[in-house]
Amino acid sequence: MVDIRCGNCKETFEIESADYSTDYDCPHCGRNVKFTTELDRWVKKIYSGEINYDFLLQKKVTNNRLVSVIMSSTFILFGSFSLLAWMFIITIPIGIWCIKVGLEELFSKSIKVETFCVFDKSNSRIVLFVHENGELVESSETKIKVEPRCKIVSYSWWSGGHDTGSAVTKVFITQKDNPINFITNCPGEFAKYLGIDFVFKGYYDNKEAIPENSHEWLEW
Ligand SMILES: [Zn+2]
Repeated sequence: MVDIRCGNCKETFEIESADYSTDYDCPHCGRNVKFTTELDRWVKKIYSGEINYDFLLQKKVTNNRLVSVIMSSTFILFGSFSLLAWMFIITIPIGIWCIKVGLEELFSKSIKVETFCVFDKSNSRIVLFVHENGELVESSETKIKVEPRCKIVSYSWWSGGHDTGSAVTKVFITQKDNPINFITNCPGEFAKYLGIDFVFKGYYDNKEAIPENSHEWLEW
């Protein structure tokens, strides 16, 4: 439980958790009070460019626009054919329905998903955050303790079938208690940035299993 102050009537009230950002109704005046965590305020500044992150671990931007256009075109085309084949009365409602679905999809809003994973040096934390169409939808932080003895360990394997699978890479930073898993596409550069060792433990394909002693790779 934590106390927050209403910006309108200046009275304080208790909220359940300070771990996530959400809206509350002030029990004193009934006005809406927006609560934003320290993490989300920091993320907002990073995203808007007000402050800079110390190290970019990964940035991924996806947009469903192309998939949406292909899908809607298919529906419209199929619908048009159904309408042309007018001799079967049943094809007319099917055709109209398909064209309607296709047009709706074509004019629907696309979703742009931006995933960032960055290192914040002053708080020694790895921060992951996701924006959908510019709105923050997810944020998390993992504190790390960087000591000369730490190392970054990475290994990869092939997941899925021969043609349809993809390479999966796991990256850890060893810690005194438990190793911490995080995402990055530049583990070597990050290790160099932190001034610690980087070890790549190899690539394991379909036939080759990850060695049983792999947990030892992450020992302190
Ligand atoms: Zn109030």
